[in-house]
Amino acid sequence: MPVYEFYCKDCNREFEVQMRLSEYEKQSEQHKCKNCDSSNTERRISMFEAKTSRKS
Ligand SMILES: [Zn+2]
Repeated sequence: MPVYEFYCKDCNREFEVQMRLSEYEKQSEQHKCKNCDSSNTERRISMFEAKTSRKS
């Protein structure tokens, strides 16, 4: 299962969320920070995803 990296703008920390690609595509909403429970987060592109991104 891929791991998605997020960055929290409130506590300035990164955290990872593990979920299926289908789940991720469904949930384009913000993910809550695991550290401070803020939803003021943005996604980071992971190495894994960059390598496996679909080009079609
Ligand atoms: Zn946070």
